[in-house]
Amino acid sequence: MSPPLNHIETSPTLPAAADVVVIGGGIIGVFTAYYLAQRGLSVALVEKGRIGAEQSSRNWGWCRQQNRDARELPMASKSLDLWERFAAETGEDTGFHRCGLLYLSNDEAELSRWSSWRAFAKTAGVTTYMLDSRQAAQRGQATGRAWKGGVFSPSDGTADPGKAAPAVARALMKLGGSVHQHCAARGIELEGGRVSGVVTEAGVIKTRTAVLAGGAWASSFCRQLGIRFPQASIRQSILSVSPVENRLPDALFTSGVSVTRRNDGRYALAISGRARVDVTPQFMRFAPQFVPMFAKRWRNLLPGGLEGIRGGHETLKRWRLDAPTPMERVRILDPKPDLPTVRETYRRAVELLPELGEAKITHAWAGFVDSTPDGVPGIGEVPDMPGLILAAGFSGHGFGIGPGAGHLIADLATGAEPIVDPIPYRPSRFSGSAWGKVADF
Ligand SMILES: Cc1cc2nc3c(=O)[nH]c(=O)nc-3n(C[C@H](O)[C@H](O)[C@H](O)COP(=O)(O)OP(=O)(O)OC[C@H]3O[C@@H](n4cnc5c(N)ncnc54)[C@H](O)[C@@H]3O)c2cc1C
Repeated sequence: MSPPLNHIETSPTLPAAADVVVIGGGIIGVFTAYYLAQRGLSVALVEKGRIGAEQSSRNWGWCRQQNRDARELPMASKSLDLWERFAAETGEDTGFHRCGLLYLSNDEAELSRWSSWRAFAKTAGVTTYMLDSRQAAQRGQATGRAWKGGVFSPSDGTADPGKAAPAVARALMKLGGSVHQHCAARGIELEGGRVSGVVTEAGVIKTRTAVLAGGAWASSFCRQLGIRFPQASIRQSILSVSPVENRLPDALFTSGVSVTRRNDGRYALAISGRARVDVTPQFMRFAPQFVPMFAKRWRNLLPGGLEGIRGGHETLKRWRLDAPTPMERVRILDPKPDLPTVRETYRRAVELLPELGEAKITHAWAGFVDSTPDGVPGIGEVPDMPGLILAAGFSGHGFGIGPGAGHLIADLATGAEPIVDPIPYRPSRFSGSAWGKVADF
């Protein structure tokens, strides 16, 4: 079952040319297109299915600095301001609010990791508070339990994944950008080695700049172009329940289960990091590079099934530009949720917050989280293909940094001063054999 998602209209005609074509209408693609249109550029956004229908509507909605890898922290901080600014400048509702994020734990090692992160974050100007057991019990009063400690990060928040990407796409259209749903990009045209157009199922759009924000499909698309982009996806399951009478915490993390309140009072419930690994040909191809990442996270990973192959997003097959491609066969990646995980999540949530026992499960769904080997996205012009900017591999935490990433991509496309240092994200790091540190989160 798909999660709730607002609908937006499609622009009536595909333009023959645009300054920039953005491929993929997830949170990264829509914010990129919005910031480009804001600078007066003509922008066409092509989306094979519906705006926001893949990862960007399937997530928890957390927009956090807390526990971010050092490489992503500046982008996370800028993004929080940009979420607020977007609402103020467009009047559109993404559901973003700085409700603060609450983390509770009884595990000394976990508390000590949070404490070290806090010391580092302080040097970057981010304030979060360690909670002692009394403060943790007070903030986590709804759990009715004792806690050894916790963290509260007051400047972080959440946005509504069902509203955010459609709201940004609507704002893009108000600025004159066009949005084409049910319109897959099949490939890229080159002239003299440089991007000269994007081939879509509805025709070619001439352009000198294409942004590939294709989420879990990015690596197979790159493969058609002879570009090696190591990417793997895992399937995470999540559910939502109906509102309850008393207000529970807006956003609560515990290692057992996490709970996020939506604006309409529903709660999204999930187990952090728990996922099924659905092996695909692409997964096997890049497996050696993902060994350090999987070694770090293996405790939460379970063997999967055929959902990855059914999705078709990790195919190694070549496709033609004049015939339907895997992207047209699967308009929306809507993998099956893992029912044992859904049941376990609900059970743990009710144990943590007994009041949730009154709530009914309204939706259960899954999403493929696309990851890079070091857990940091690839953002930047692809080496050897001028005019193609890659923006994928957001590794399970790209929703919250959507505005900052979109701004950075628009900066790179227009040669403007980058909003954050682009070096940690550059795709050229994927071409060598030396791999950086795997992100901690
Ligand atoms: C269960 C779950 C929980 C998560 N929780 C959080 C969280 O709390 N906070 C957080 O920050 N992140 C979270 N994430 C991660 C976050 O959702 C993603 O990192 C983010 O949404 C990625 O955005 P995206 O635009 O790159 O990809 P997507 O949202 O997947 O969008 C890519 C789009 O590209 C389209 N596309 C692909 N190929 C083509 C093509 N050739 N032509 C046209 N269109 C194409 C697809 O249809 C898709 O709509 C979570 C993810 C999941 C699944």
